[in-house]
Amino acid sequence: MNQVIFHVDVNSAYLSWSAIKSLAGGGGEDYRQIPCVVGGDESKRHGVVLAKSLPAKKYGIRTGESLFEARRKCPDVKIIKPDFPWYVEKSRAMMAILSQYSPDIYKYSIDEAFLDMTGMEGLMGRPVEAACRLKDQIRDELGFTVNIGVSSNYLLAKMASDFEKPDKVHTLFAGEIREKMWPLPVRDLFSVGGSSEKKLLKYGVRTIGELAAMDRKRLVKDMGLQGGVIWEYANGIESVPIVQRETKEKSYGNSITTSQDIGSCETACRMLMPLCETVAMRLRLDSMKVSTVTVQVTDYDFKKRSHQRSLGHATDVTAEIYEAACGLMREMWNGTPVRLIGVSGGKAAREEYEQMSLFQDPQTEKQKKLDRAMDSLKLRFGEDAVIRASLLEDNGRTRGMARAKMEHKIKKAGPESRRIKERHNEGTI
Ligand SMILES: [Mg+2]
Repeated sequence: MNQVIFHVDVNSAYLSWSAIKSLAGGGGEDYRQIPCVVGGDESKRHGVVLAKSLPAKKYGIRTGESLFEARRKCPDVKIIKPDFPWYVEKSRAMMAILSQYSPDIYKYSIDEAFLDMTGMEGLMGRPVEAACRLKDQIRDELGFTVNIGVSSNYLLAKMASDFEKPDKVHTLFAGEIREKMWPLPVRDLFSVGGSSEKKLLKYGVRTIGELAAMDRKRLVKDMGLQGGVIWEYANGIESVPIVQRETKEKSYGNSITTSQDIGSCETACRMLMPLCETVAMRLRLDSMKVSTVTVQVTDYDFKKRSHQRSLGHATDVTAEIYEAACGLMREMWNGTPVRLIGVSGGKAAREEYEQMSLFQDPQTEKQKKLDRAMDSLKLRFGEDAVIRASLLEDNGRTRGMARAKMEHKIKKAGPESRRIKERHNEGTI
């Protein structure tokens, strides 16, 4: 059976979501129709453009550049603050619609998801028709638009969703690569960054088609393995999967993007607590345990780093996961302020297969009882019913986060993994 993959991508997600909230609240102007950007605090030097309207794009404003720069390009640009709890709500509403189309969803970011539609034709109709229906349903029910890319692999589906916007379905099957993908600038190819682009320009390679026509051996010789991978991508071959589906099935994770930079290791560690708490609570609810812990950070330059540690035994105890996560954070902290913090537990296994650990000391037993007590309180009275003392010492940001019901990624093992579960927190872009 031929694989069919959809990539769903919200058009100017943060901006659209803010626009519909403002319109619903009686705001007269539609942010999508004027030069407008969503950005952090303009008075702070780090305020950057998180999303832009199409009219703002026409002024050359780009995501990731400073608000100062955006104002220079368009003095009248309207700058609005991000509203993460609202974005999470809209993201969840969209994921709920996606789950009506396929049980196999891979959430790629807060506003992007892949659907494996393989074998769904009998139920959902031809892929392009199903994609058009899905796109229209999201627009009509939720009030914002998406682009959907349809193809036979994840890479091409993602490339296709980036074609003309907004509110469009595009296909990019193998037979269309030459016509639709090869004329694009090489920088548009997935995983080609600024430095690869520079090297390629030196060879006179400007388009994806010119890259595809290069001698692969020469690329590998000059650029290493990455050279081979981008050559294959340029030819539509997803030789290195662009989503890690395997780890997705086997890990539980949770991350938060903050509106301000986190400048100290201690603050970062405190922020790990609610993340670890949610991860561990989900594990306990699913009777799963993990034996590795990974901490991931993205700094304000969008540079990503992650460290992983094996626990030596499987656990669902919040304190154990938290301790490991803090250790990792201290290990990787280099003084650069961070914007995103994530924690995930890996090598998840069902409780019954757990190996007895040497660490099953009375202290751990106490922790387990505490965890169980907190779980039942939270399940009965909500996420804020109990807050660990360590969070109360914080300046309020972490408690705010807990209240904001961050959306989190829950990655499940077994057949249950097929459904996207109600998630209550998040924030990766
Ligand atoms: Mg998007």
